[in-house]
Formats: sequence, C-alpha cells, structure tokens
Amino acid sequence: SCRGGFCCAQQPQIILLKEGTDASQGKAQLVSNINACTAVADAVRTTLGPRGMDKLIHDDKGNTTISNDGATIMKLLDIVHPAAKILVDIAKSQDSEVGDGTTTVVLLAAEFLKEAKPFIEDGVHSQNLIRSYRTASYLAIDKIKELAVSIEGKSLEEKKSLLAKCAATTLSSKLIGGEKEFFASMVVDAVLAIGNDDRLNLIGIKKVPGGNMRDSFLVNGVAFKKTFSYAGFEQQPKKFLNPKILLLNIELELKSEKENAEIRLSDPLQYQSIVDAEWNIIYDKLDKCVQSGAKIVLSRLAIGDLATQYFADRDIFCAGRVTEEDLQRVAAATGGTVQTSVNNIIDEVLGSCEVFEEKQVGNERFNIFSGCPSGQTATIVLRGGADQFIEEAERSLHDAIMIVRRALKNSTVVPGGGAIDMEISRFLRLHARTIAGKSQLFINSYAKALEVIPRQLCDNAGYDATDVLNKLRQKHASGEGANYGVDINTGGIADSFANFVWEPAVVKINAINAATEAACLILSVDETVKNPKSESAQGEAAASAMAGRGRGGAAFRGRGGRGMRRR
Ligand code: ADP
Ligand code: MG
Repeated sequence: SCRGGFCCAQQPQIILLKEGTDASQGKAQLVSNINACTAVADAVRTTLGPRGMDKLIHDDKGNTTISNDGATIMKLLDIVHPAAKILVDIAKSQDSEVGDGTTTVVLLAAEFLKEAKPFIEDGVHSQNLIRSYRTASYLAIDKIKELAVSIEGKSLEEKKSLLAKCAATTLSSKLIGGEKEFFASMVVDAVLAIGNDDRLNLIGIKKVPGGNMRDSFLVNGVAFKKTFSYAGFEQQPKKFLNPKILLLNIELELKSEKENAEIRLSDPLQYQSIVDAEWNIIYDKLDKCVQSGAKIVLSRLAIGDLATQYFADRDIFCAGRVTEEDLQRVAAATGGTVQTSVNNIIDEVLGSCEVFEEKQVGNERFNIFSGCPSGQTATIVLRGGADQFIEEAERSLHDAIMIVRRALKNSTVVPGGGAIDMEISRFLRLHARTIAGKSQLFINSYAKALEVIPRQLCDNAGYDATDVLNKLRQKHASGEGANYGVDINTGGIADSFANFVWEPAVVKINAINAATEAACLILSVDETVKNPKSESAQGEAAASAMAGRGRGGAAFRGRGGRGMRRR
C-alpha cells in the first residue's frame, strides 16, 4: 500500500473529461466498430438480388412494412451503434443520389471493413489501409468508366428498350419482379413523358389497394383521387373533350356569418342587406368563373354546396380541396396558372387537356386529365393487394424511375449480376501484382471484397457460391469474359449483357465511392467518447466512480502517452 501511495504522489492523476464520460479506444475499439458494421450488413445481406428475401419490420405502433430496399430497411431498423449508423447514412445518400444500389453500398462497405479486420488485428496502422483503399477505389471507378457502354445516339425505340432493360433489372429483385416487363415499360414511358425536367414529383404515383397488379396504368397527364364533394356534384358532367381548366387558390363558399364577428344592428331589416351582400359576393365570384369559359374548376380550398350546385346548373365540373401537389401538377401539365383571385381571368391562365374524365378505379373515383399539352407530367396508378404490398411496389417503382432517369442522363450502362464487380476485382488483383510493399496486400483485399456482390447473389438464390465464383474468376481471367455474371436462373454463369441484366454505371460508381469513403471513415476512428447525457446520469456515473471504478478517469489515464505518439 505504501508503494501505491508513493506512485500516486509522484504522478498525479490528470482528469480531462467530466466524470462519467465513457471512452473506449485503440485497436479493440476499431475491431468492435467493424464487428458492428458486419452485423448491420448481415441484416440486409439476404435482400440482395432477384432472389433476395424481403424483410418484414413492425414497430411498437403496429405499423408493418415489407421491404427489399436497403435504405428503407436500414431506416426502420433504428440502429443506435454510432459507427454502424454511418452505414445507414450511406444507404440513405445512395438512395437520394442515384435511387438504387442501397443494399450494394452497405454490403461493400461492410466487406471492405471485414477484409481490413485481420490487418488491424495484426497491428497494421489503419492509415496505411485507408490510403490503399482510396487508391483502389479510384482505379476501380476509372475502370468502370472505361468498361461502361454508352447508349447515346440510339434511336428512340432502341433507347426505350435499353432503358426498359435497366428498369427491369432493378425491379427483378422486388416484390413486383414477376411483372417487371410490364412495369419497366410503364416507368420508361413515364420518364420519357416528362422529358428533361428534373422534378421527381412530376411523376405521380397513386396507390389504389385491391385489384390486380396488371390493372395498374399510366396516365399521360395527371390523376388524383376525387376530392370531397357536396350535393349537386352528381349532376355535373364527368367527361369533357378539350376543356378549359381554371385553377384557383380561393374559397368558393358562402360565409354567412363568421364565427366571432359581431355586428350591431339597430333595425332588423339591415340584417337582410348584410346577408344579401354575402350572396352577391359569392355569386359575383361564381359568375366570373363561368364567364372565363372554363369547364373545369379546381381549387386548393373548399368549394361549397352553393358553388357546386351553381356549376352543376351550368354543366361545369368542379373539385375543391385538391392537394397543393396535385394542383401544381395539373398546372404544369395543362399549362394553366393557379389564380388567387377571380378578377381578370384571362385566357392565358386557363389550362387545357385533350380528355378529362372522372373514372372508377377499384373502390375509388379518380379525376384524370390526359393528353396534356405541355406533357410534362405522368401519373402511375398502382393497383394490387394489401397496403404493405402496394407501399413496397411504390418504393420499387421509385427505384426504377430513378434508374431510368440516371441511365437517360448519364447514358452509360454496365453489366449487372456481379459481372462488373468480378471484372474490377480481377483488374485490381492484376494491378496489385505490380506494386511492391504492403499496399499490394491491401489492394488485393479490396479486390476480394468486391466479390461479395456475386457471392451474395448466389447465396440468396441458394446456389453454391464457391463453385460459381470459381467459374466466374476463371472466365474473367480468360480475358474475354468481362461481361459474365451470375446466372440467377440456372446457378451457373452467363453473359449479363446478353441477358439484359444492365445497370447504369453511375449506380456502381456511386456505390464504390460511398462504400470506400464509409469504410475509410470507420477505419480512421480509434476512439469513441460518450458524454454523460444529463445531470442525473452524471451523478450516477460519479457515484460509481467513487466506488472505485471511474471508467472515464481510468480510460484517460492510459491516454496521455498514446495520444502524444499519435499526433
Ligand atoms: P440494391 O438495393 O443494391 O439495388 P437489389 O436487391 O436491387 O439491391 O439487387 C441488385 C443486384 O442484383 C445488382 O447487383 C444486380 O446486378 C443484380 N441483379 C438484378 N437482376 C439480376 C438478374 N436477373 N440476374 C442476376 N443479377 C441480377
Ligand atoms: Mg436495386
């Protein structure tokens, strides 16, 4: 005990962090972060590819989601591990950047880390790994760009079929994969309909549960669910050819007495005049709408029963409380402008379309505007089974829409089914041989990690991954099998290009980029510090520290020397 006292007297303990702060660091911390990331990847691993499984996630509120989309699953998993959260973020960013490849990016990142683990355990400094990984990713991306095939300069018909192939590849891994050709061509038509406009919401997806998937249809224009309507609505015509359309952002409702208004009258007769004035105002508004020549009146705000009847008497169709989004899309499609006043409605602000119709779709009635002049909108009305099914179908279509759009914009594609991954892997292995030094090993590991995609595609389909991978390696090494990937139907290998398993190059480029960055980020973290959250938590921690187990202090005592060596 005397010796201990002597030590303490010589080396006073330095306390930098608040008591109760939790800090873990060093190699063990790195390895534990890698393990956490592997665990996260394991959660989405089985969803990859056309034979991937779906996940059913339900929360304590009783919401059930069935999904195959990496980003959606990761979001719902509610991951709390700080390092593993990075994987959630890259899945999300892949989703917003390119819209597909979300499972791929998570798997790649986790595999890069997994390959790095033995090196870290052997005491390799992570900066060396990071440097080699970065180099490898640049080489890989350059190679993808070199291998990508351009679809530029093809005729519209050819382009359409090429784009449909890309969309079908995306959809093949989804619940609606069985109808992928049907939906792929629908998506391509929708994307081509809106042309170069980047606003995603110009493609509306309306979900009507029930019925058959094949009952889904594309409207070259806008469609939305019939809004709430008042008596008199039934007498309005439900179909027009070449109607003029008036879009409003005002209320067409009789407001006899506002709730809190107080009017003092000396003579009861005066009351009548006030009521009359209200009626005059609304009739004036309605007259102006009618005089504009519009046959369809839409408003974001309410259209009351008086107005509904008034329009019905004049063979005009009206709908109130149309959502902002739908109204904007009608405006974009029909070439109209939303008015905030009925004074001065000139012809230019009215929209038009070839056919307007109110139609029954399943249990719902829809207002459908088709043949719109500016043609910049398209709406997919999605049918099919249960709510969860149709929600997932919508997410899948969203992926496909993004993919077609990307392919159209960047117009280069690469073979999927793990073909491009195998080819990059081979290329990096060859490159590694030209490097002397440790970097050779690291680049080799990076190359090996890329094989996770074909391996997982096989595993998920129930094929012997080792067998297929050996065949693929041999084929790619022969120099003329660059397009060979996993044949998901037979469990062998096949030319992905010939089988039309195509993906936009940008999906792969972005995935490799993001996965490498995430892996490097996680490898560069060797310490996690958790701050005590609240006073009470601090109190508790302090109490335990006084009991002789002050973790914050203990962790930090070891730090001085190491920290200095590091920086
Ligand atoms: P992600 O969320 O990463 O897009 P997916 O579940 O959509 O994951 O799977 C995409 C992978 O499946 C890609 O690597 C793609 O090449 C592959 N794939 C898609 N269709 C086929 C197919 N018919 N045959 C082989 N591989 C396919
Ligand atoms: Mg996909």
